[in-house]
Amino acid sequence: MIRKAIRKVDIDATFYLNETTKYYDVRIQQYIKDRQANGWSIYVAKHTHGWCRWTSKQLVIPYWVLRKDIGYRTWYIAHELAHSYVTFKDDHGPRFMEQLMRICPKEYQMHEYGYMCKEALAAGLHVSKDMLI
Ligand SMILES: [Zn+2]
Repeated sequence: MIRKAIRKVDIDATFYLNETTKYYDVRIQQYIKDRQANGWSIYVAKHTHGWCRWTSKQLVIPYWVLRKDIGYRTWYIAHELAHSYVTFKDDHGPRFMEQLMRICPKEYQMHEYGYMCKEALAAGLHVSKDMLI
């Protein structure tokens, strides 16, 4: 499988996200480990938004998220992880939400309500058929 390179990757932050619990609540670590064990790569990059790309098994967390508090960071990472457990066609529908509720600790789930994702999608921000933010 060809893995298209992610641009603007922050190598240090990507290392800490993959190898430590520095950026998130320890309760989501098992899902990060599970994704890694199933061939997924998780990057931190200087992008405006995160994404999930199923064909190359890539998740991207935007660098700016790391400046937020632990609840926001944990929710954001859980959101992208949740995409990886369902398909592109599930979008942000019921199957996606079921995964998000499973992965994200309850006290952080309220961040989903304020997420720009739906507005961004409505505005046509997502750029390819196998990628969602
Ligand atoms: Zn999303």
